[in-house]
Amino acid sequence: MNHDEWLEQAGKYALGVLNGEELTQFEAHLTLGCQACEDHMQLMWEILSLLPWALALPSPPSRIKARLLARTMAEERKLGREAGEDLTEQRERRESEET
Ligand SMILES: [Zn+2]
Repeated sequence: MNHDEWLEQAGKYALGVLNGEELTQFEAHLTLGCQACEDHMQLMWEILSLLPWALALPSPPSRIKARLLARTMAEERKLGREAGEDLTEQRERRESEET
């Protein structure tokens, strides 16, 4: 077996899908102290540890969030403009009552 095949086994081992004879052989290979396979498994585990985080932020909900945010901001602008108009009307009314 050339070493690329061992790295492939290391990937499967990290995923937990290595079993039977392949698992026994790979563990025997690891006990020989193969740094390349350990590094490869480490990399696999780092990638796998990032997956739940990546899956927690799928693109469709963030697009919806962006649209909601845009709509909220538009409504706030609209409300702000209406509130401003109300204040102007009130001031004009107050001024006309005073005079
Ligand atoms: Zn190896």
